[in-house]
Amino acid sequence: MMLRQGTWSPTAEVLLDAQSELLSAIEGSSVIWCGRGATALYWAYRMACSWGEPVAHPEIILPAISCASPALSALAAECVVRFADVCPDTGMVTMESIKARLSPATKAVVFIHLYGQTQDLQELAAWCKANHLLLIEDVAQAQGARLPNGCPAGSVGDVAIFSFNRTKILRCGGGALVLRSRLAEELWGRIGIPDQPFREIDPVVAAELGLSERNLYHALVTLQRLSCPTGRQLSMEVFNRCYSQTYVRSMLDPAKLASAWTTLPRELELRAAKADLYRSRLSRGPWRLLDGCRASGVCWRYSLLVDFPGKLTEFTHAVRQNGFYVSNLYWPLNTLLNPADVCPSAEEFGRRCVNLWVDDSVSPDWVTECAEVVRAEGERLAADIQHRESIRERR
Ligand SMILES: *Cc1c(COP(=O)(O)O)cnc(C)c1O
Repeated sequence: MMLRQGTWSPTAEVLLDAQSELLSAIEGSSVIWCGRGATALYWAYRMACSWGEPVAHPEIILPAISCASPALSALAAECVVRFADVCPDTGMVTMESIKARLSPATKAVVFIHLYGQTQDLQELAAWCKANHLLLIEDVAQAQGARLPNGCPAGSVGDVAIFSFNRTKILRCGGGALVLRSRLAEELWGRIGIPDQPFREIDPVVAAELGLSERNLYHALVTLQRLSCPTGRQLSMEVFNRCYSQTYVRSMLDPAKLASAWTTLPRELELRAAKADLYRSRLSRGPWRLLDGCRASGVCWRYSLLVDFPGKLTEFTHAVRQNGFYVSNLYWPLNTLLNPADVCPSAEEFGRRCVNLWVDDSVSPDWVTECAEVVRAEGERLAADIQHRESIRERR
């Protein structure tokens, strides 16, 4: 189903093939098409909160390493965000840390397939079930990926969410919430959205606010990286008051999405070919390749964990000076949104991770040249550090 002009209507005819493909791939029962991945998450959180005993401050457990949208849309749904630490080698949440965040107010766990990597989710699914928590599988960065057991990403959670917006695998706009369990169907029925009038945010305002939010987020992350004090209260309140309306958007263009849908296999092939180029050119160097995309079949951003965490920003700056855009996308969200949830491995990951581009904004030649610059600048920095250390030892 989808929202149109403030009321619910059946999925548009042009999207029916995509819908049945999606449902059969991940064994879902319904798709709620919407304007953003963040909107799909917002509704998933509302569903989770309507389950079980009402609590004053429902809590959602999220990975500390991620883009900010899953956490910020939880704030928009009036939830408390709790952050689980990640595996320092993959950046994906660990079972141990998720368990440590459980409280009587916990309502849901979000698992994110980061950068297209996947992970076996059976243990997490069983634990969520035993503790009456909704498992939300976030597939925004891993559409089409395979789990280690060969099943598709999105085929384990009670619900799975997708994003088709700018920077994701399909970039035609929109998002989706897929219901996958009887529990999910029941909760969706309970939150009663179909009867409520829906006020759509003006797209121009949404775009302006979206840009402003990204700017503020990046500014705050820079301050965190440099260990400048930023008030937690300030960042939470500003995000919540100014941006919460932008997380709930219903509109997508069904025809655009239907035609983008058919390009997915080709899109994944082109991305994998670029990932292969990085892999072969960067196989040795002062870093470790974050190569989970090889097994999952989906590369969202090809990523490295550098051996010179103290020089990460200097490194990305040097690569950019050569005309190649690389980035350090994520910084532990707990530092910004809930510092009491200490996540040391997420900080280590955030200080080491560099993301390289594989989408349609770059060509294979660009990738090859970029890899050479990454290699040269990385080796130069590592040698520089070694040189300084040897001088210090001699003294
Ligand atoms: C981008 C993203 C989202 C949000 O998707 P939008 O369509 O931009 O709202 C959610 N989760 C993850 C992991 C993402 O990367």
